[in-house]
Amino acid sequence: MSTITAKKVANIHYTLKNDAGEVLDSSEGQEPLAYLHGAMNLVPGLEKELEGKSAGDKISCVVEPEEGYGEKDPELIQELPRNMFGGVDTIEVGMAFHAETQNGMQVVEVIDVEEDAVTIDGNHVLAGERLHFDVEIIDIRDATEEELSHGHVHAPGGCGHDH
Ligand code: ZN
Repeated sequence: MSTITAKKVANIHYTLKNDAGEVLDSSEGQEPLAYLHGAMNLVPGLEKELEGKSAGDKISCVVEPEEGYGEKDPELIQELPRNMFGGVDTIEVGMAFHAETQNGMQVVEVIDVEEDAVTIDGNHVLAGERLHFDVEIIDIRDATEEELSHGHVHAPGGCGHDH
């Protein structure tokens, strides 16, 4: 019976909650999530928990931030002059922008707006969160050569991604 190891594709149903028990993300009501094991498709702490599991297994685990989306990095929170957002008429807390940073293109979220300054946060929205996962493994198959070379799962019929 096959188990989850590197170069396997697993289909999983999952629910992700925070410490307060709020559901942050879930595959419930949708197709299971297909992911390529060992390719950093999932956060490291969850991959570790899934290693060696079989179809039909159900696991619950808690992933600390360092094994999840990392701790919040204060250097990714920046106050910028309002005129840097020249093309945007209305800027509100919660809006997300793509911005060029030292780490390449990243999504930054507006967390504070003043008359002449805008504070943005480039941390992942789940940075600093302890992650509570409930996962059911639906099935497991070998990855194709193409999937392995791309580092992600392909839908039936081809890649469907830009490369
Ligand atoms: Zn691809």
